[in-house]
Amino acid sequence: MTFESLGLAPALLRALADNNYTTPTPIQAEAIPLALAGNDLLGGAQTGTGKTAAFGLPLLQRLAADSTKPATGPRKPRALILVPTRELAVQVADSIRSYSRYLRLNVTTIFGGAGMGPQVDNLRRGVDILVATPGRLIDHMERGSAKLDAVEILVLDEADRMLDMGFLPAMKRILARVPAQRQPLLFS
Ligand code: AMP
Repeated sequence: MTFESLGLAPALLRALADNNYTTPTPIQAEAIPLALAGNDLLGGAQTGTGKTAAFGLPLLQRLAADSTKPATGPRKPRALILVPTRELAVQVADSIRSYSRYLRLNVTTIFGGAGMGPQVDNLRRGVDILVATPGRLIDHMERGSAKLDAVEILVLDEADRMLDMGFLPAMKRILARVPAQRQPLLFS
C-alpha cells in the first residue's frame, strides 16, 4: 500500500516524502479514500496511529482542489478542526502545516490561556484552516472575530475526550453556526 494508491495529489505526496512517511498506517489507508470521495467519516484508533494525517490529508486535498472561492478580501475558515486541548491544537496545526507546505493554505490556532488580541489579528488577516478549542472559539464567535459560515469541512478530533471534558454544550453551539451538509470527519 502506498500514499499514491490512495489518490493523493503530488503536492501532498512530496510533503509526505519530506516527512519520511512511506506507508500509510491502517487508519490512513481506510479513511483517506473515503474522505477524498466526499463521505462523512467516524474514525477510531489509538493515540499515535496517524489520525492527524488520516483526516488532514484529505482535508487539504479537498481545500486545494476547490479554488472557486473569491481571492479578494480576508479569507474565512473553510475547514474547522475542533480539539480538546491547547497542546493538541498546537500539535495538529504543526502537522497540518507540514503536510501543506507545498500548498498555499493558512493554518491558524485559537485556544484558551493565551491572549485574545494576537488571535483576533490572525483571524482578521485571513484563515483557511482553523484549529480551535471549543471554549475559546465561542469567545471569538461572540465578539465576531471568528466566522464559521464558510466552513466546508468539520473535524472533531478526540471527540470522545471533548465530550468527557464537558464540551458538549459548546460543541452544539459551534455546530449550529457551521453551514448544514458540510463534510464532517470525526476522529477519536
Ligand atoms: P498522530 O497519531 O497523528 O499523532 O501521529 C503519530 C506520529 O506518527 C506522528 O509523529 C506522525 O508524524 C507519525 N506518522 C503519522 N503517519 C505516519 C506514516 N504514514 N508514516 C510514518 N509516520 C507517520
